[in-house]
Amino acid sequence: MLIDGHGRTVNYLRISVTERCNFRCQYCMPEKPFSWVPKENLLTFEELFLFVKVAIDGGVNKIRLTGGEPLLREDLDKFIKMISDYKPEIDLALTTNGYLLPEAAQRLKDAGLKRLNISLDSLKSDVAAKIAGKDVLAKVLKGIDKALEVGLKVKINMVPLKGINDDEILDLLDYCKAHNMKIRFIEYMENRHADQSLKGMHGKEILEKVKERHTIEALGREGASPSFNYALEDGTEFGLIDPHKHDFCENCNRIRLTAEGNLIPCLYFDEAMSIAESVKKGDIQGAADVLAQVLKDKPKENRWSEDNPNEEKEISSRAFYETGG
Ligand code: SAM
Repeated sequence: MLIDGHGRTVNYLRISVTERCNFRCQYCMPEKPFSWVPKENLLTFEELFLFVKVAIDGGVNKIRLTGGEPLLREDLDKFIKMISDYKPEIDLALTTNGYLLPEAAQRLKDAGLKRLNISLDSLKSDVAAKIAGKDVLAKVLKGIDKALEVGLKVKINMVPLKGINDDEILDLLDYCKAHNMKIRFIEYMENRHADQSLKGMHGKEILEKVKERHTIEALGREGASPSFNYALEDGTEFGLIDPHKHDFCENCNRIRLTAEGNLIPCLYFDEAMSIAESVKKGDIQGAADVLAQVLKDKPKENRWSEDNPNEEKEISSRAFYETGG
């Protein structure tokens, strides 16, 4: 079992396989970064897999591939198959914007992927285009249909933004209900890479919107998930991810790995250690030592909390597209 310095069990690894993205979402990567990580600095899937084995052997039983846009990385299905063949019972999931799913969904499923989280911030094509920086909605909806058709379990992520898509919370809830998918509303997390004019909706405001049409019952958190679950009067469930409350930090079970090999103990903090040197040499013990040190140093909690009004509510200088959100 992997235990961190605060006694928490860590069993969840998120891997950002690329920082590159085909969307320019206002809250994440509104403009193309000045430079991308050079291709030669990216770990190969074989190198990433060496670390994956160390993590799985240590006790990781849930892996999520993310980015950037993970479907931009060539041969992602081969990496999925490597992980799935090594430990078929692993909870193997992917977070994507869905744009490339119409072509990729079947391959991902065949390789052993089990679940997908798809970002869908609007059902209006002009609003979706405004948020993502290009006309994306039709292809994303097609991607969602395809993922469901091939039998992948799908959850939807929406980031409600004031004055942009805050009037679509109920519509997205209806859409997800009709497609038998769970939606999770994510509070916008302030960060220096986003469009600084954005204003996110607070968790309480999101719940107020839902209550305009529904009665809701609080169900609680599902294990160590940052999502707090609610049920509508007919039993339909939805989730709210509200990092500004940060009461999920005490159950945090995750670490993050970037495409360059930085192992990050917390989305909020800059601190990270690199596994690149170890995995490039095939040094399993070296990679395990880095993992042990990162677990020891994992911070107690993030600093988005409203209990800390003087703290800057920001994440590390690292962008979401680098760490995978
Ligand atoms: N490209 C993929 C996608 O769009 O889902 C995966 C990467 S994206 C960084 C992962 C998740 O982070 C998405 O659900 C996105 O909505 C969320 N995200 C990115 N920036 C965010 C922010 N500033 N606040 C809240 N969520 C954010």
